[in-house]
Amino acid sequence: MTLPATLGEAVAALSAMPAAVPVAGGTDLMAAVNKGQLRPAGLVGLGRINEIRGWQYQDGHALLGAGLTHARMGRPDFAALIPALAAAARAAGPPQIRNAGTLGGNIVSAAPTGDSLPVLAALEADLVVAGPGGTREVPVTHLLAGRELLGPAELIGFVRVPLLHAPQVFLKATGRTGPGRATASVAVVLDPARRGVRCAVGAIAPMPLRPLEAERWIASLIDWDGDRGLAPEALTAFGEYVAAACIPDPPGEEQLPPAVLHLRRTVAALARRALGRALS
Ligand SMILES: Cc1cc2nc3c(=O)[nH]c(=O)nc-3n(C[C@H](O)[C@H](O)[C@H](O)COP(=O)(O)OP(=O)(O)OC[C@H]3O[C@@H](n4cnc5c(N)ncnc54)[C@H](O)[C@@H]3O)c2cc1C
Repeated sequence: MTLPATLGEAVAALSAMPAAVPVAGGTDLMAAVNKGQLRPAGLVGLGRINEIRGWQYQDGHALLGAGLTHARMGRPDFAALIPALAAAARAAGPPQIRNAGTLGGNIVSAAPTGDSLPVLAALEADLVVAGPGGTREVPVTHLLAGRELLGPAELIGFVRVPLLHAPQVFLKATGRTGPGRATASVAVVLDPARRGVRCAVGAIAPMPLRPLEAERWIASLIDWDGDRGLAPEALTAFGEYVAAACIPDPPGEEQLPPAVLHLRRTVAALARRALGRALS
């Protein structure tokens, strides 16, 4: 395994060995190798690249290194900066996974159950991709939707996240007690400067879903210059609006199957609670 010390060296190593694969914490990649699903011809380890293991401030944004581990993002100093991402990181698997697993790996694996993904979608985060031709920026949702793919020898270097200085909440249902993959998750982010509420629902579709009409409707009810409180009925209606947007009724007289109906109720409850907490 090659262990470059800079992002540039890692790009050069991948350019020199086109069949090699980058590995960060290895929690997803090694699981695939162990299951016989992947046989990489070589590995380029990203674990020694210090520049992507922390974060820095840049023009009202945080530039997060792709090598940040879930454990690091779960700490209080990070939680003060981007509370919903910290909450997602704390919920991402058992401690040994959180100690090794990284933000960049979570994004590139793009599992529907990736806990950071709905938060990044709600924050409208961008990726800074490093490659042989230099760097380029792409909205994280373009990568998750497959509209933009990583090219040969390209790596995610950083994730650019706006600092909104307002409440934000991530909630996850797992269908069991203790750590587990999400059956549904919801991120709610308040953006007072734009008088906006942004919401993304994870785990119920291949990529996070944004219920844009529900966002606009609830934002119009909030007294942004006042206490920002909402009546319980409005929170409940928001939850149901979000859930119906993400899991629509079937056409005609058809009924949703019981398991899907249960999932819809779970999403409604998560969205109601998440918004209630963000506004309280
Ligand atoms: C038991 C278990 C429980 C888990 N529970 C959860 C959970 O509850 N929630 C959750 O979200 N995830 C969970 N995961 C998944 C996993 O821990 C995360 O997806 C993790 O963030 C992956 O990061 P990594 O650094 O280990 O990625 P790796 O395994 O190193 O890499 C994953 C993929 O990303 C690529 N890659 C990594 N870094 C970069 C980069 N900077 N640029 C380009 N490509 C890159 C690799 O080539 C590979 O294709 C769990 C995994 C296990 C094994």
